[in-house]
Amino acid sequence: MSNQAIDQQHIWHPYSAMHSGQPVYMVESAHGVRLTLDDGRELIDGMASWWCVIHGYNQPQMNAALQAQLQKMSHVMFGGLTHEPAIRLTEQLLAITPTALQSVFYSDSGSVAVEVAMKMALQYWQAKARPGKHRFIALRSAYHGDTFATMSVCDPVTGMHSLFKDNLPLQIFVEQPRCRFGATCSDADIAPLEEALRAHADECAALIMEPIVQGAGGMWFYSAEYLQRARQLCERYGVLLILDEIATGFGRTGKLFACEHADVTPDILCIGKSLTGGYMTLAATLTTEHISQAIDDGEPGVFMHGPTFMANPLACTAALTSIRLLLATDWQENIRRIEAGLAQGLAPCRKLDQVAEVRVLGAIGVVEMKQPVNMQAITAAFVENGVWVRPFGKLVYLMPPFVINDDDLATLTAAVVSVLTRQ
Ligand code: PMP
Repeated sequence: MSNQAIDQQHIWHPYSAMHSGQPVYMVESAHGVRLTLDDGRELIDGMASWWCVIHGYNQPQMNAALQAQLQKMSHVMFGGLTHEPAIRLTEQLLAITPTALQSVFYSDSGSVAVEVAMKMALQYWQAKARPGKHRFIALRSAYHGDTFATMSVCDPVTGMHSLFKDNLPLQIFVEQPRCRFGATCSDADIAPLEEALRAHADECAALIMEPIVQGAGGMWFYSAEYLQRARQLCERYGVLLILDEIATGFGRTGKLFACEHADVTPDILCIGKSLTGGYMTLAATLTTEHISQAIDDGEPGVFMHGPTFMANPLACTAALTSIRLLLATDWQENIRRIEAGLAQGLAPCRKLDQVAEVRVLGAIGVVEMKQPVNMQAITAAFVENGVWVRPFGKLVYLMPPFVINDDDLATLTAAVVSVLTRQ
């Protein structure tokens, strides 16, 4: 059987049918910003493998650090044991995240980091003798993951609510913030959130949101002032704030964490994706000492979660090395360079009838079409143009590795203009 045949008949890909017969591209290797296919074709990666390979593929320092760690141990259980990579990474995370966040829980994927955040909020309120506070407020067009608790706080229409309605807890949804990034947030803009908090604070554990950029639910950039006002409202109504920085963390929006645009500290912060520079799967949930202490003081006196691969030493090494690499560069200037390249390169799309809007923030460039695109056909067209771009719905977007140079960025944006012109 050929590789393609085995793959098509036996392997599920993300959000795919097992028997669709749709081809997938076979990657032989990857270096820098280029994927090399098995037929020798090279593609410039516009996706950073779903937004996480910030330093590019096969990065020499990353490889060396992982090889060195491999000589010591690739894995060891975290129950009752600890290790240098976890300790060094924790020090590093504490140094770069908001000061109030002092307690770190490691897990293996973004979805689990959000599950853990939700569980922390629930255990906190149970410890405070407020078990009635068990629901969550979320924003429409949000995306927080694919597991059951996280699905319940994803957009109720475009998410999986109807499919799993009997198994999902019923959460409270607030309309997507309409005030845009860079604009102010009026009383009318914040009113739906305030209304939800006023009506439901007694039964709500936390408000969960993606700060500044709603990612997989719509690639939408909203006002920093909305986030500030949301923080103030959470305090006023006694509801915790969970910020999901899984997509936005580690520089993507031009700040190390998107909450810095609003100078807001959450009660609980979720990070993942580019935490390891896209080398390994690792995520983390950070919270305040106040919350971790309250959980300790409640029943059963421990936080009830503990994954097998918690704080995997290789993954922690990848994360530590990736963060050090990022901080060793003038990364803010680099993101401004990419932002300018995306803005300039995607601008011609504005003239196309089929395009509704072009928006750019940091190293994120979005072309919103008026109609959904045919993903299979458009991906093939991008491959013919020598680039890897994978749109969803009406959204054709670029989130390249931060190491992309100006020429490759220009090739990438030119391919988007060229392919969308023919849509
Ligand atoms: N939260 C956000 C904001 C995300 O973008 C994602 C992944 N796209 C997740 C959570 C889930 O992460 P994972 O796919 O690693 O489970």
